[in-house]
Amino acid sequence: MRDCWENEKKERVSFMRASVLVGPRQLELREIDTPTTPIDGILVRVMACGICGSDIRSFESGLRGDISEQVMGHEIAGTVEDVGPQAEGFKRGDKVAIAPDVCCGECFYCKKGWVNLCDNHRMIGTHWPGGFAQFLSVDGYMLKHGMVHHMPDELSFVDATMSEPASSVLACQENINVSLGDTVAIIGDGPIGCLHIEVARARGASRVFMSGLHRLDFAEEFHPDLLVDAGSQDPVREILNATKGLGVDHCIVATPVADTQRQGVEIVRKRGTVVLFGGLPRTDPMTTLNGNKIHYEEIRVVGAFSYQARHHRLALDLIRSKKISASKYVTRVVSLTEIEEGIRMAQQGDAMKVVVDPWR
Ligand SMILES: [Zn+2]
Ligand SMILES: [Zn+2]
Repeated sequence: MRDCWENEKKERVSFMRASVLVGPRQLELREIDTPTTPIDGILVRVMACGICGSDIRSFESGLRGDISEQVMGHEIAGTVEDVGPQAEGFKRGDKVAIAPDVCCGECFYCKKGWVNLCDNHRMIGTHWPGGFAQFLSVDGYMLKHGMVHHMPDELSFVDATMSEPASSVLACQENINVSLGDTVAIIGDGPIGCLHIEVARARGASRVFMSGLHRLDFAEEFHPDLLVDAGSQDPVREILNATKGLGVDHCIVATPVADTQRQGVEIVRKRGTVVLFGGLPRTDPMTTLNGNKIHYEEIRVVGAFSYQARHHRLALDLIRSKKISASKYVTRVVSLTEIEEGIRMAQQGDAMKVVVDPWR
């Protein structure tokens, strides 16, 4: 059956437009074959795909490992264009949101349920072609081990793309258990930092402080209890003052800057938690933290990476119920030819979240 399915599909090949990263700072707009519908999977018409910090990182320094070129983009929303005869659970026209992580289901970590830490972890937009294209093929393996979810009908495609970055924020705050009455400091005023404000509030945090640099005007719209301009003020002093010297229960460091991780340890109270949410540059991953403060004050320093499928579902639901105000984040929609421009705007703080519409 597979052979005849694939032959039939080949006859229907047409072309689509895709933006392909071919090397650092080199994006190429190409006309390529529209992918065929996998026999056990679906073909998705991409309606919107967010530009993520990790896309910007790959744009700057190239794709990870030995991957030489790829269609990037992993914050995807679209409609099901076609369904393979052996695929279950989807029909033509379904609206779907897709997160990139695909786990193996077999390794030590998958068996533990920590699928985000899978030893064979692979991602759409890195190991498979991603959403900076008009169509995306999702095979049966990706459907089974990845995160393809129906999105609420009333959501726009652009808003639905925010479910991916929101998922990692939900998983992080669940891990450190931000709870009713807690105080939370967030370092980093990008979209992720602002998602942390909204999620902390939804979990019952009493006060949420933020320190930022380039996008304070934007962050202001999320009404943190204190917004520190790290360019002219010392975030450690300001946030300690705001807690009468006690320090906060949790500090979430959502920047790629090692020195802000150092600040995180200075900002928390005894037995507080510091989360290293942002990765450091691949070529310079070392950080310096006050080891004695961590030791004597029993401070927990933890990492946060990715999430599980249930967080992606939850994110879609929180966007639907407006606990996460997705439309506030997306300040620019660009075409496939304008991705570099979108990246530049995000880097310079001229735009918050930039979303690609491949049909523009
Ligand atoms: Zn992302
Ligand atoms: Zn695994």
